[in-house]
Amino acid sequence: MRQPMVAGNWKMNGSREANEALVKEVLGALTSPAKAEIVVCPPYVYLPQVAALVDGSAIGLGAQDVSDQDAGAYTGEVSGSMLRDVGCAYVIVGHSERRSLYAEDDDFTARKFAAARRHGLKPILCVGELLEERESGVTEQVVARQLDAVLDLEGVESLKDAVIAYEPVWAIGTGKTATPEQAQAVHAFIRSRVAERDAGVADGVRILYGGSVKADNAAELFSQPDIDGGLIGGASLKAADFLAICRAA
Ligand code: 13P
Repeated sequence: MRQPMVAGNWKMNGSREANEALVKEVLGALTSPAKAEIVVCPPYVYLPQVAALVDGSAIGLGAQDVSDQDAGAYTGEVSGSMLRDVGCAYVIVGHSERRSLYAEDDDFTARKFAAARRHGLKPILCVGELLEERESGVTEQVVARQLDAVLDLEGVESLKDAVIAYEPVWAIGTGKTATPEQAQAVHAFIRSRVAERDAGVADGVRILYGGSVKADNAAELFSQPDIDGGLIGGASLKAADFLAICRAA
């Protein structure tokens, strides 16, 4: 059985004060252990602060991005070993905002996935189609291409220590959630695509849904057979909403 997972992607939000309040409120309310594995992904600069706040708790730590390089003259980059050093277990790679706003393509994303693994981080690989791609009926081709770039470079076994997040770009931050049926269909497709390479790995890999997940739609999404939890943006910044979503998983 796959343990559900809820990961909060804070994106470029937070301050020392707000982070402390948010994490303390979530931890204070998490009196009994949640069924889901819970992870928060703050901006790089706040990782040490949040690492200290969640230390010894049921909340794990992830970063939002990682360099494809290991060390050296790469101004502005942060390596996987640094992320490990400050206590990260997970890292998001290939988020659609990286792909679309910073022109990161499938190959570059695959190299980041590889870099994460080299340093013992578990990648959360994001895939998902644009609105025009959905409307022109190429959702599966797009998601397959994004997934295959990683599987061709790193092999299917690499998914044993990774998580996939399906985030339809048209549903991110728009308030437009994919219906549970729409999301389930793509999740099932992703799992079948992995199963073509290895059925056991496909069965074990967690596939999270992301895109306008809220307290009031999480349970229905998470009840789908191939949806193993969520990658949460906006709603992860409010303790009550994030908690409700964690409890729904
Ligand atoms: P929202 O939940 O704000 O739509 O963001 C989803 C997301 O991009 C998580 O990575």
